[in-house]
Amino acid sequence: MSLLLAPNSMTRRSLLGGLAAGSALVLLHPFAARAAANQAHLRLMETTDIHVNIMPYDYYADKPNDTLGLSRTASFIDQVRAEAGNSMLIDNGDLLQGNPMGDYMAYEKGTKGGDLHPVMKAMNVLGYDCVTLGNHEFNYGLDFLFNVMAGAKFPVVCANLTKGQLASDPKKDDLFFKPYRIIEKQIRDGSGATSPLKIGFIGFVPPQIMVWDAKNLEGKAQTRDIVEAAKAWVPVMKEEGADIVVALSHSGIDGTGQSERMENASLYLAGVDGIDAIFTGHQHLVFPGPKDFDGIAGADIKKGTLMGKPAVMAGFWGSHMGLIDLLIEKDGNSWKIVDFTTEARPIYHRDENRKVVADAKDKAEIVAAVKEEHEATLAYVRRPVGKTSAPLYSYFALVADDPSVQIVSNAQTWYVKDLLKEGQYKDYPVLSAAAPFKAGGRNGPDYFTDVPAGNIAIKNVADLYLYPNTVQAVLITGAQVKNWLEMSAGMFNQVPEGAKDVPLLSTSFPSYNYDVIDGVTYQIDLSQPARFDKDGKLANPDSNRITDLKFDGKPIDPAQKFVVATNNYRAGGGGKFPDIAGDKVILVAPDTNRDVIVRYIIAEGTINPSADANWSFKPLPGTTAVFESGPKGRQYLADVKGAKIEDAGDGAEGFAKFRLVL
Ligand code: MN
Ligand code: MG
Repeated sequence: MSLLLAPNSMTRRSLLGGLAAGSALVLLHPFAARAAANQAHLRLMETTDIHVNIMPYDYYADKPNDTLGLSRTASFIDQVRAEAGNSMLIDNGDLLQGNPMGDYMAYEKGTKGGDLHPVMKAMNVLGYDCVTLGNHEFNYGLDFLFNVMAGAKFPVVCANLTKGQLASDPKKDDLFFKPYRIIEKQIRDGSGATSPLKIGFIGFVPPQIMVWDAKNLEGKAQTRDIVEAAKAWVPVMKEEGADIVVALSHSGIDGTGQSERMENASLYLAGVDGIDAIFTGHQHLVFPGPKDFDGIAGADIKKGTLMGKPAVMAGFWGSHMGLIDLLIEKDGNSWKIVDFTTEARPIYHRDENRKVVADAKDKAEIVAAVKEEHEATLAYVRRPVGKTSAPLYSYFALVADDPSVQIVSNAQTWYVKDLLKEGQYKDYPVLSAAAPFKAGGRNGPDYFTDVPAGNIAIKNVADLYLYPNTVQAVLITGAQVKNWLEMSAGMFNQVPEGAKDVPLLSTSFPSYNYDVIDGVTYQIDLSQPARFDKDGKLANPDSNRITDLKFDGKPIDPAQKFVVATNNYRAGGGGKFPDIAGDKVILVAPDTNRDVIVRYIIAEGTINPSADANWSFKPLPGTTAVFESGPKGRQYLADVKGAKIEDAGDGAEGFAKFRLVL
């Protein structure tokens, strides 16, 4: 049984995960077994970045999903409490936005009439002890936030969000929420006797909400640096008698050095005197654990500490429960921490074939609590929320400017221009890069986007944007824009002038790396070899596939600077595009690309995704190339702009063959 007691052992995790709440087998945490008469075990449980994912359901794809859902995480709670001498439950924010249930509540149902928000219904069932706010709490405006939070049966703390301007002394700030809460909890010690513990919780939100949600907050709120607010308030908590101070930090872990108004300040927050333990979030990563945060000085990924203090980050959407276990000891009239463990306990794992296997069951009370809103959300995602004036399809996304890619760029440009319209980047032109995600290939001849003109539903957006990427923007030169496109053009085989029916598409180049850049015009010369290899290395220095690259109707100035809207994958160096890596990023937006598309559709009412044919192949007289696509693409042949495509009969394995006349 000793193996079962090891906090991070796989065996223990899967065994416990598979147990129903209330099961007879309870494996006490070592601290609970070990606590002496003057000692006690206190277990702190964290959920974070739930983003309205109460049910294990992907509303975009309109199907169940075992990797998410508070109903699953919640099923751990009874078990976890039973393993502990004493326990408390906290949440670290980003509760109210991030899936269609959140949009449904904000845009359709509303908060009038005193109905509880489903997130509050679920959380009230679980008995949270304290909660802080995430940046996404502000996405629907302050009124919505306060209406929802009015239904909370738990305290909400946030120490760095003020009404209006900052005071000269942080302690004089006019805060929207209580900065901290000290809870007196009766603690059962190793002898079974109870005595009170004063535990303080203090909360923090990223200061960047003033940029990300300027439209909701400007003139109404202000934010203070996280570490600065902590340094002011933690001594007050100690003066008020807090035995233990726990930070609820909706902020990630960044080891690149402390800076003012830092977004991911949890490492430096952990260094503040008086803070004993720290719950983090916001980055949607896992701590402790082998994968994320390796190599950051001050972060111990094995022990689960930041600056030597116990810390945890519990993934996102309910994927993990974060646990900080404290062995505390009576110290006169107070308590002190004498030992700790930390753990991020997942609700699923992947088997040897990378298939998701659920390790948690639904907690029935949670499913029952949100049943009505779950069903309403299903109806919402299946119902039209806007119209498209042209069909949205991806059959020819690799051979012509295409509506399924155009709509993504339209939405990204709309969103990034708005975020940058004031401030230091306001005068740069905004371009947008987007790639086709559903483009046949190994996934078969039906694996294409195909939404007819007319009504468009939210579930259609999943079809347009498969991945939960977030929006980022980079600042690059005209020369780098050209290299970006040269890299994309590695999608194609070389097609010598005069050749007939040459296979067009490289089989080793993934379609999600075929970025089209909108906002410039260009042609691709297929007679040239690719300038870059698949690793972004210059392979043919004399070759230029991208020709006629123009901005504003004039040849692009290689030195001119452009903002390019893209996603976190590409901006961070994904696909190894030349010069494109994290150092070019000027905007890390808080929203997923598909949420931006949904917002764009709702804002526009009727969208026009017609491609603007801003790119095409350079004419090569007497030359043709062939490619395969879905047979349902045949109906759109006449609609394709900027390319001449002929039906060339049937292809292999259910695909249709098409001929590109160059
Ligand atoms: Mn989040
Ligand atoms: Mg276009």
